[in-house]
Amino acid sequence: MQRAYHILNHTFGYDEFRHYQADIVETVIGGRDALVLMPTGGGKSLCYQIPALVRDGVGIVVSPLIALMQDQVDALQQLGIRAAFLNSSMNGQQQQAVLHMLSVGELDLLYVAPERLLTEQMLSLLSQAPLALFAIDEAHCVSQWGHDFRREYQQLSVLQQRFPGVPRIALTATADVRTRQEIIAQLDLGDAAVFINSFDRPNIRYTISEGQNSRDRLWQFIEREHSDDAGIIYCLSRKKVESTAEWLAAKGRTALPYHAGLPDEVRRDHQQRFLREEGVIVVATIAFGMGIDKPDVRFVAHLNLPKSLEAYYQETGRAGRDGQPADAWMAYGLQDVITLRQMLQGSDGDEQFKRIANAKLDAMLGLCEQVSCRRQALLAYFDEQQEMPCGNCDTCLDPPETWDGTEAAQKVLSCVYRSGQRFGVNYVIDILTGKDDARIQGNGHHQLSTFGIGADKTAVEWRGIFRQLIAQGFLTADIESYGVLYLTEKARPLLRGEVQLALRHQRKGKQTKKTKVASSLTAIETVLFNALREHRLTLARERGVPPYVIFHDSTLQEMAQRRPVCSDDLRTISGIGDKKLNEYGASFLAVINNGSENQDERAISQLQTR
Ligand code: ADP
Ligand code: ZN
Repeated sequence: MQRAYHILNHTFGYDEFRHYQADIVETVIGGRDALVLMPTGGGKSLCYQIPALVRDGVGIVVSPLIALMQDQVDALQQLGIRAAFLNSSMNGQQQQAVLHMLSVGELDLLYVAPERLLTEQMLSLLSQAPLALFAIDEAHCVSQWGHDFRREYQQLSVLQQRFPGVPRIALTATADVRTRQEIIAQLDLGDAAVFINSFDRPNIRYTISEGQNSRDRLWQFIEREHSDDAGIIYCLSRKKVESTAEWLAAKGRTALPYHAGLPDEVRRDHQQRFLREEGVIVVATIAFGMGIDKPDVRFVAHLNLPKSLEAYYQETGRAGRDGQPADAWMAYGLQDVITLRQMLQGSDGDEQFKRIANAKLDAMLGLCEQVSCRRQALLAYFDEQQEMPCGNCDTCLDPPETWDGTEAAQKVLSCVYRSGQRFGVNYVIDILTGKDDARIQGNGHHQLSTFGIGADKTAVEWRGIFRQLIAQGFLTADIESYGVLYLTEKARPLLRGEVQLALRHQRKGKQTKKTKVASSLTAIETVLFNALREHRLTLARERGVPPYVIFHDSTLQEMAQRRPVCSDDLRTISGIGDKKLNEYGASFLAVINNGSENQDERAISQLQTR
């Protein structure tokens, strides 16, 4: 472990292990298998990187994320670690070079795609090399229950048979119990030490709002909180992805679409720009994001309802991996609920699948309608109890007001019932509000006892009530027939007045305190921070790597606050190891010290002109 701590300090530039990292590292160094469950951003990589450096031989990292191997390897090389990757994107000569390094023992870490690893050629090559460990990253890919299933992952148990003495460490950020069991079974990890971290991401602020004009609200949010930050916006359809990206671009932001319908090279280009430039927004379907380990994504926004809490948690987890404040922001509406239910019903899955999927959607809606702390509810879903409300979600910061919606709900339910459970939301609202048009006349619905009984509320208000009733399962919006509403069993006691129903007031999206990273800096520090970022971008461009591979924002922030004057000072800043100190120390010190007088003046004059 002494070696491990030395590497942590000198190679990675970190003072301490986090969470269970030390235990995990010790387990694997000792030669035992491990299963590691840690949220995104928790620091999984160190758990195999350090043991691979401490143990003899090369560490083999199995990863499905071919597109990201280059960046992962670049980042390790920046630290002075001898890393390489092997995948289908390389030509024969490049592959030969890597295989040569492997055979002469010149590698500490080798990243391989599973299909490549499983070839007989590769396996027999590995049986001749001393191996430190196998790390199986994104281990949930082995599970058919999860959403990233990869067939080749199921064959990885061959590693246990072929290399019995080599420790294996499987890692994932997927929290649910069923996936965990499947990983253990499929990968033969019955004897592994299991490490389950808290899945809480305290730096992420959860905000969920409902109702119309979600785009405008999104824009206000971005303008107010993230005017030059990188972020991801998820939409359900390709069309909405395209139109949202165009709309943001027209507002002056760099916004790039990403979905499965775009040509490969466009997708690759957009992903690269997201990683390599500052402040880019990607607007995407769920096709984007797996394994994106950009640490400084400051917000993840959903313009549609995700299908499940698992998906929501994974997608929002891409924000704030560096531990700095970040936002998970979502807006959804009635139409989302209906569309998702329809998509489910129309899908090819069997009844069992549909039942599970519907239950997952209900859990998602439950979070949306939550009147107490969202984080507590979210973690409870993953079997984790948190004693206290978090203080960093919208319901904690701005508790929603509820009102007695019993009577309004009864009006809705009886109106649906009396019109024969044959119509969708808009039409039923027309009856409720007493709209006397040809269609209503034609159906004779102007004669219903419920005609006009909801004239006290606007159509928009009624939509909010319908949404909540559907979300809470009093009404179901049917399927093939475009959202025809009918009552569920749950509706009866409510109609009979046997239960009361609390509904949420629609919120206007009150402003809460900013979550900006830079907001913790003073004006003078901010000027220096920006100068350091600029310098970092120049270096990154010269080297063809993403800026965060040079230094993370948090490292630059600490530089801006502490203003180190010599390399000994610099060395104490988190994220600066020996190699980076040598390579970049002097130039960053120059920015800090040369620039500091000018910057002070500039900052002061900025302050005066405010
Ligand atoms: P994961 O793979 O679990 O999503 P990473 O391994 O990418 O997370 O780590 C997330 C971030 O946290 C990285 O930027 C990493 O450098 C940083 N990190 C990991 N361990 C530590 C530590 N012990 N001290 C400081 N920073 C750490
Ligand atoms: Zn909370």
